[in-house]
Amino acid sequence: MTIHHLEETNSILNTFISEIRDVTIQKDSLRFRRNIERIGEVLGYELSKNLSYSETKVETPLGNKNIQLPKNDVVLCSILRAGLPLHQGLLNYFDSAENAFISAYRHHTNNTADFEIVVEYFASPNIENKTLLLADPMLATGQSLVAVYEGMKKHGAPKEIHLVCVIGSTDGIEFVKKHFPENTHLWIAAIDDTLNEKGYIVPGLGDAGDLAFGSKL
Ligand code: URA
Repeated sequence: MTIHHLEETNSILNTFISEIRDVTIQKDSLRFRRNIERIGEVLGYELSKNLSYSETKVETPLGNKNIQLPKNDVVLCSILRAGLPLHQGLLNYFDSAENAFISAYRHHTNNTADFEIVVEYFASPNIENKTLLLADPMLATGQSLVAVYEGMKKHGAPKEIHLVCVIGSTDGIEFVKKHFPENTHLWIAAIDDTLNEKGYIVPGLGDAGDLAFGSKL
């Protein structure tokens, strides 16, 4: 797996990351969603440099110009519900992407910290030979991404896979490395070292789904 850790290069992206982490600023859910969306736009722009391009002639009112345009068939798949603002950010740039939505949640067994990933809702187009963008804002244990990928395999074998994440843990990244094909790319804004006993990234930002959409029962 090739890891593209965007925070290694200073850019305006750091402003968006600091605002989603900041315990005061993140309370503004509109701003939180919009910052995740903006991070999706930046990650999408960066990964677009890795796509395949072909020359296309564009006619202007004054003449013609050849321009290299991406030619991949992109399927954008997100995990509900926290993935929605990240999905929108990517979709802002990949105008004609097809879309897949999958629900995955942690089911805690016997009130312990142990959990299994339950995948329920599954709506996906065929992904055979397409470019699959799999978006999950928080790459914590990596189990959700792997569970969703296992489910996606029923819909075909993608030509290439790009994982798109906002914050990841080093352990989670090691886990996904073992379960995705070698030629997979991970586009990630920030990486933290620690996962706590509940599977949250530390310092991370808290619960991305709750911050974007409110707490749940
Ligand atoms: N999901 C979140 O929203 N936050 C984490 O830290 C881990 C998983």
